[in-house]
Amino acid sequence: MNHIDESAPAARLNAFLATDPRDVGCERAMELLHVYVDVVADGGSQERFAGVVAHLRACGPCSEEFDGLLDAVSEGWGGPGVPRDR
Ligand SMILES: [Zn+2]
Repeated sequence: MNHIDESAPAARLNAFLATDPRDVGCERAMELLHVYVDVVADGGSQERFAGVVAHLRACGPCSEEFDGLLDAVSEGWGGPGVPRDR
C-alpha cells in the first residue's frame, strides 16, 4: 500500500491547473495593455488578445490598470457623455 501524504503538492497542482494556460502573465499583459485597450475602445476583435483577457480575469492589479487605461482612452475621444473639463 502506498500511503504518502500528498495533500500539499496536490493543492499546489490544483492551483496551477486552475490558472488559465493562455494567461500571458503580468509583464506581457502590461506590454500589450495599451494595444488591447485601443482594440476594446475601437470595438475591434479581442480574439487575438485571449491571453491578455485571461490574465486580466485572474490578476486584480492588471485589471485595475486596464480600467484606468480604458477611462483615459475613452476621455481622449471627447465623445458625447464624456465631459472634458480642461
Ligand atoms: Zn497581472
